[in-house]
Amino acid sequence: MHFHILTLFPEMVTGTLNTSITGRAMEKGLIRVDAVNIRDYSKDKHHHVDDAPYGGGAGMVMQPGPVFDAYEALAARLGKRPRVLYMTPQGRVFNQDIARELAQEEDLVFLCGHYEGIDERVLEMIVTDHISIGDYVLTGGELPAMVMIDCISRLIPGVLNNDVSAEFESFHDNLLEYPQYTRPESFMGRRVPEVLLSGHHKNIGQWRRQKAIERTLKERPDLLEQASLTPKEQAFLEELKKSAELTNG
Ligand code: SAM
Repeated sequence: MHFHILTLFPEMVTGTLNTSITGRAMEKGLIRVDAVNIRDYSKDKHHHVDDAPYGGGAGMVMQPGPVFDAYEALAARLGKRPRVLYMTPQGRVFNQDIARELAQEEDLVFLCGHYEGIDERVLEMIVTDHISIGDYVLTGGELPAMVMIDCISRLIPGVLNNDVSAEFESFHDNLLEYPQYTRPESFMGRRVPEVLLSGHHKNIGQWRRQKAIERTLKERPDLLEQASLTPKEQAFLEELKKSAELTNG
């Protein structure tokens, strides 16, 4: 997978993604991250890329020309026109399903805004997807692009040591993951649940599913509407709901 980031601050993204798991994935050639400096495409003699908004108002707006030229030059180099994801608080909110879908692409372009955003006309011309990482406003699109690249990279075969770990974690099946434990067996008087020490895989599997359902009901009940539960698990969920109602009066 080849990620291309159109940004005014290339050093922000390259310095971070080449560490840890994404860094190793780059070394192995499983992912590639290239930052394109939009400022390099400014035709202004002072390399300006922004100007005041028409109609007045606070802040500056990124001009369409440098963004358009940066993308066109990239598309010409690649010999194709990859999907362009504009990082914006006004977009579809990123989630694991969108990550799975994007992980199928060969190239992805992340367009990072700054200041008050980017002139609407170039967005209409090159952007294929408007994506937000949550209902809050950041200063720029670089952190959202990094969040998405990190998440998508984990889904690329070979990036994680054990591909199963990406398959069965939170949001798989619309459930949050069960609690995890490691050594020591007892920590400050708190013991690891006995079932996990039993070596009985069927019981461990069942316990984990029940804990996942319990946790999802507590933290993200909205997810449960889409979760695929067996009739037995559905009955377990109904019991949990009943006892929660009793406790809450
Ligand atoms: N004026 C814009 C608005 O109200 O929608 C916000 C601009 S924001 C200060 C500057 C840039 O940060 C945006 O162009 C976008 O690239 C990025 N950004 C901010 N919050 C974001 C979010 N929640 N998700 C994705 N990108 C975001």
